[in-house]
Amino acid sequence: REHSAMAFKGGPSIPGIKDIIAVASGKGGVGKSTTAVNLAVALAKACQQNVGLLDADIYGPSIPTMMNIFRKPEVMSALEKLTRGVAWGNLDILVIDMPPGTGDAQLSISQRLQLSGALIVSTPQDIALIDAQRGAFMFHKVDVPILGLIENMSFFKCPKCGEKSDIFGHGGAKRTADKMNLDFLGEIPLEVQVRSCSDEGSPIVMSSPDSLAAKAYIDIAHKV
Ligand code: ADP
Repeated sequence: REHSAMAFKGGPSIPGIKDIIAVASGKGGVGKSTTAVNLAVALAKACQQNVGLLDADIYGPSIPTMMNIFRKPEVMSALEKLTRGVAWGNLDILVIDMPPGTGDAQLSISQRLQLSGALIVSTPQDIALIDAQRGAFMFHKVDVPILGLIENMSFFKCPKCGEKSDIFGHGGAKRTADKMNLDFLGEIPLEVQVRSCSDEGSPIVMSSPDSLAAKAYIDIAHKV
């Protein structure tokens, strides 16, 4: 597969998999998992790639704190099983839904799996963007190329009157990308269907490919 953005050193560390892409966010709740799922579907359907999807967001970062437990070794061994212990077959791309944040777990995943690249998802809000920048620095530190920033919940277009509202602000991810000299890959609107399709287990790119959000995911998949 020709892949300009991801021509990378020795390549991923799982046999049979050409590229491993992490979908990351500095902060939880910004739509990282939703983006990972819809991009995986878009890469498979619209870009005709053989795609796998791995949920590495296997623990809420607040749980160990709330329960006063330290589970890092178990988390890493679970991830080890999920990556190397699974018969993934031959894949063009394995999309990894990363745990939110920029701690040791994220660092270990990035290093051990020799990621081909990372996508960073943020809402337009400053607080999410500050954390997204932290994420970008982390990937930079371990030599993982950042494929670009994605702004989720970028705007809301009223389905009745067509008026656009910037519920969480707008354009912050593009400004951050420009400031950090990173690619900006696109804006995903806030849409009821994004949420409802996910809740029903049929991502919007699959069940409503003509929606604005699905088109945005497909457009981003073509750029990856
Ligand atoms: P994260 O993985 O960053 O914690 P999720 O992907 O779980 O975030 O998304 C959090 C919530 O927001 C979910 O209920 C999801 O369906 C919803 N959501 C995410 N992106 C959108 C969007 N563009 N429009 C509407 N709802 C969204």
